[in-house]
Amino acid sequence: MNSKKLIYVDNNATTAVDPEVFAAMKPFFCEQYGNPSSIHSFGGSVAAHINKAREQVADLLGITNRNKLGEVTELIFTSCGTESDSAAIYNALQICPKKKKVVMSKVEHPAVLNVGKELERRGYHVEYVPVDKKGRLDMERLGEMVDDNTALVSVMWANNETGNIYPVEKIAEIAHLHGALFHTDAVQAVGKIPINLSESAIDMLSLSGHKLHAPKGVGALYIKRGIRFRPFITGGHQEKGRRGGTENVASIIALGKACELAGKYIGAENSFVRELRDRLEKTIIATMPDIRVNGDIENRLPNTTCISFEYIEGESILMLLDRHGICASSGSACTTGSLEPSHVLRAMGVPYTAAHGAIRFSFSRFNTEDDVDKIIEALPPIIAWLREMSPFWNKDK
Ligand SMILES: *Cc1c(COP(=O)(O)O)cnc(C)c1O
Repeated sequence: MNSKKLIYVDNNATTAVDPEVFAAMKPFFCEQYGNPSSIHSFGGSVAAHINKAREQVADLLGITNRNKLGEVTELIFTSCGTESDSAAIYNALQICPKKKKVVMSKVEHPAVLNVGKELERRGYHVEYVPVDKKGRLDMERLGEMVDDNTALVSVMWANNETGNIYPVEKIAEIAHLHGALFHTDAVQAVGKIPINLSESAIDMLSLSGHKLHAPKGVGALYIKRGIRFRPFITGGHQEKGRRGGTENVASIIALGKACELAGKYIGAENSFVRELRDRLEKTIIATMPDIRVNGDIENRLPNTTCISFEYIEGESILMLLDRHGICASSGSACTTGSLEPSHVLRAMGVPYTAAHGAIRFSFSRFNTEDDVDKIIEALPPIIAWLREMSPFWNKDK
């Protein structure tokens, strides 16, 4: 390792825990370590903190429904975004046992896409909605795919690779036209764009702590009032019998705090963070040839840019950036390590010479102007050097 300052622009892979979040969770390890299910007040008092965290998550999502006791009942804490996605999809199939079809997009995160593949192995019919070259969903095809045999439509709110934002309310309405449920993987959207579930058609929504400055290993699933829920993990009576297992108390407290802060800083995501992203993107386009930005430029998350440096390998760029202490990503972290370009860029029909050279920069409120300066300084010589060596690069152009 070198002693250079770390420049972390891989916030769609994971984020730093906010020090305020860490401070909020800390007492729940060595001091308030009681089991919230215990009868004694030492444990029992922890339950109140969990309820407060649930309120904080509900506030960020605009959940206004409460039961007679004034509690939020539409949120279940889980172990991660992946668990929330699985729980939602399997639930839909269990509560609609006669329906054997699921519709999802081709650009879902593996946490949804690979459930689709597993469902196919189990004999379900899964259809994958295509996207155009900007990664926009083919809404007409989606409309044709959803039928009376469809238990669930699952489309992400925002894409982790391109940042594309999908018209989830519209899709929920299409699903409902045919009596199907609608789930959205909102892991990348929560905290970055406003969400209001109080007047939403969305039936189920997944989120994850570590993408919004809470720790890894905690998530939540929203299930609209009136929709039945069969537990994905069966056990004790925790989470009103909907998710067994002693609560990950400290992380749940952290997720609550992170959601409170996300609400406070959502303006910054759309001003300060967006400006950092835009300045990096504009400078790259202005200073280097053969650049393309992948995705729906007008309709994407404020923190994400997916840039193709044509005719060179993204992995090589990442390795050289790493020497400058710069952490970015090529495709999604889950795709890295395989030689194929990401399934998202392939679904968009991005040409191979561009898909292989795609780098994702994803910012957070912890980035600085200086980070952008450093990247802008480090990149051009790296790109020029790799292109010099590339057999695909036309030097005489
Ligand atoms: C990170 C991510 C997930 C998985 O969340 P985990 O908490 O890591 O399981 C799911 N969907 C999207 C879009 C993600 O970016």
